[in-house]
Amino acid sequence: MQGEGPLLGVRQLFIRLGGCNLSCAFCDTPQARRPAATCRIETEPGTGRYEYVPNTLSVEDVTSMVKKLRIIGHHSVAVTGGEPLVQADFLRDLLPSLKVAGFKIYLETNSTMPDELEGVIEHVDFVAADIKLPSSTLEPERFEDNLRFLRLCASATLIVKIVVTEETEAEEFLKAVQIARDSGSKPIVVLQPVTGRRGEVSVGGLVLLDLQRRALEIFGDVRVIPRVQQFLRLA
Ligand code: SF4
Repeated sequence: MQGEGPLLGVRQLFIRLGGCNLSCAFCDTPQARRPAATCRIETEPGTGRYEYVPNTLSVEDVTSMVKKLRIIGHHSVAVTGGEPLVQADFLRDLLPSLKVAGFKIYLETNSTMPDELEGVIEHVDFVAADIKLPSSTLEPERFEDNLRFLRLCASATLIVKIVVTEETEAEEFLKAVQIARDSGSKPIVVLQPVTGRRGEVSVGGLVLLDLQRRALEIFGDVRVIPRVQQFLRLA
């Protein structure tokens, strides 16, 4: 189930690809930062019970596994990571194969690899693009890459997610909102307060309201949406 953003609650199949081009200080999927020797395939949704197969898989293997897991009402296939565009060559073949099988594609990305996006965007229906702030990555900002990336997303439904922590400076957050606006790709901008392992949100409600008010002065669709996976205790 999608646990973030405006499509929160829709049923999805997730393909998690190994490898990432960033090294965020507060990475929420450190296990996906490098390709793994084996692939895990969950056998019952949400149980954390898996079968293991050797990596790497072919496009045909992945398409056939995804088709086996399909239920009536799946909204889309979420392609996530790590950073899935690290494997852009593979996606160039996989995404058309999934589209032929009748799936919509929902790409989750850190929006820093515009050159790689160019080769796959025609197959993508939804782009959920993070703009990562230096206060949470502890890395230099990548705003120029983010802007180039978002400008390529006009053909898809674009969701721009900005995670806010207690350390976030208003200026860096508002700069990210300006980038979303300047992309011209009509995004929905999501202000997502960082959520702890048990669902606790440490950023205060008044801080969130103030950031949203200031963001709305820049761009007309900015929503405060926490992530919900932790509340449901999904594996
Ligand atoms: S982009 Fe995502 S997967 Fe990569 S280091 Fe940052 S949080 Fe982790």
